[in-house]
Amino acid sequence: MKSITELQDLNGKKVLLRVDFDVPIVDGKIQESFRIKKQKETIDYLLKHGARIVMMAHIKALDSFASIVPELQTILGHSTQLVLTIEEAASSSADFVLLDNIRKHPEEEKNDTAFAQRLAAGFDIYVNNAFAVSHRDHASVSAIAKILPAYAGLLIQQEVNELQKAVEAPAEGKIIIMGGAKASTKVPVIKNFLSKAEAILIGGVIANDILLAQGKDVGASLVDSDAKELLQDVDLTSDKLIIPEDFVVEDTKYLDIGPQATEKFCQIISTAKFIVWNGPMGMFEEERFAAATHRIAQAISDSGALSVIGGGDTIAAVNKFGLLDKYSFVSTGGGSMLAFLAGEKLPGLQALGYYS
Ligand code: ADP
Ligand code: MG
Repeated sequence: MKSITELQDLNGKKVLLRVDFDVPIVDGKIQESFRIKKQKETIDYLLKHGARIVMMAHIKALDSFASIVPELQTILGHSTQLVLTIEEAASSSADFVLLDNIRKHPEEEKNDTAFAQRLAAGFDIYVNNAFAVSHRDHASVSAIAKILPAYAGLLIQQEVNELQKAVEAPAEGKIIIMGGAKASTKVPVIKNFLSKAEAILIGGVIANDILLAQGKDVGASLVDSDAKELLQDVDLTSDKLIIPEDFVVEDTKYLDIGPQATEKFCQIISTAKFIVWNGPMGMFEEERFAAATHRIAQAISDSGALSVIGGGDTIAAVNKFGLLDKYSFVSTGGGSMLAFLAGEKLPGLQALGYYS
């Protein structure tokens, strides 16, 4: 994988930069700017070396970046020109330009080559710094890298290095904590780490899914309809798999793991050397179901182990507890982090030559 640090001369070069600004918006304001801040190092590096940047990014919470450009500028510390069309982006004389929501173009998610060619026109190089979308086969992540000379930004390199460490760290002392909801992204990670970790602690909806797959009664608890089939090729009898035995229950719904399970998890965490955590233990958005997630977050921070955490909701929870700076590495990836940890090939990394 070629890095921007290998580029000898960036002075005056026109760089097409894929960034990740897909932030949550509440009352029109950016609720959590972690992902934007994580782009700053690469942007500063490119600007310092004299490059002119056009950024491509998507946002799901808004149609357009227009209303948050003032906030973006403040966070990044650079005056930013928002342009609405690909042609304006290529012809702009500004040093720092943002092309509006790339997913407005239906060709983006189709990984359309002709669209990628339109994007590439007038640029010298392409840089991908959007780790969180690198599991997507999209034009601004994948097709574009076949048209322009393609380089990894500093964040992509950092993400890959840190997650690689999580995969390669010795199984002894390595604890995986898996919660949250989406079975299709979580089960492959559980499967991959059964042979690569000392224990896998399970909470969230995925705990309900496993109990159900084991033929247990989970009342009216939320379950994922895809889980049963996905769990068929996971060894659910493994003693490495730690499933809670008590829950916080309301109207027969398991909404958080219970105090005994929390205690047991914290005890295991305190002995760990390396911890990987994705997914809240319960419906943490409601205070009365946030206890286990909060205690686990604190226990990881107290453990002294190396820790890698990720997932949009996991980060939102940890941020709420004021613990976001207490971990060795916080990934900007949700789905992409899980795909990487599951041992899948990410199209965006493949396009940068990572697997060759
Ligand atoms: P992440 O974004 O960190 O990867 P997910 O998106 O997979 O996490 O899951 C987070 C969501 O799962 C949260 O909205 C949370 O409320 C929900 N959740 C976790 N446990 C439960 C539960 N027992 N019942 C209902 N919802 C839950
Ligand atoms: Mg989520």
